[in-house]
Amino acid sequence: MDDADRTALPASRLADQGGLGQVGTAMTLRLRRHHILCSIGFEGVGYSDAFTANMGHIVHGQLRAADGEAVSIRITDTADSICAPCPKRRGLGCEGQDLIDRLDAAHGAALDVRPGDRLTWGACLDRVRARIVPGDLDRICEGCSWLEGGMCKRAVAKLLAGRKKAAPEGTA
Ligand code: SF4
Repeated sequence: MDDADRTALPASRLADQGGLGQVGTAMTLRLRRHHILCSIGFEGVGYSDAFTANMGHIVHGQLRAADGEAVSIRITDTADSICAPCPKRRGLGCEGQDLIDRLDAAHGAALDVRPGDRLTWGACLDRVRARIVPGDLDRICEGCSWLEGGMCKRAVAKLLAGRKKAAPEGTA
């Protein structure tokens, strides 16, 4: 699909391809590569009320729910379940597409995930635990307006601290 096609697709097509239409269901969530870490760092702020409400529903209502690690994730390189109501979305693309492409490439390489991959949210967390430290975000998130606030680094640090606490005695 070329850029013209990406920006021409209406919201109804996005829903058909698994966008907002999947929120609130037990179906697969579609996530861009960099949205794995964004979901870990999410603290209830976003680009608009609708965006924040939708992302809160995904993150708090599904991924951080008691059974959240079992949620099925499909990795995509177009607008995803989080992007659906974003005021910056243009069809299946974004008004800041160059930055989004850079973030996706850097996060995908860091986490070893590619468009088309299917994995559980628990497996996504395992990738982060195994492959990311908070300082990596200075490089892979370069250009993101949320980086300076530090919430994403704090969230990764908390995830890694949980990993150490969960290790059986004598194995840390
Ligand atoms: S700094 Fe930006 S790109 Fe990086 S995890 Fe946070 S919100 Fe996502």
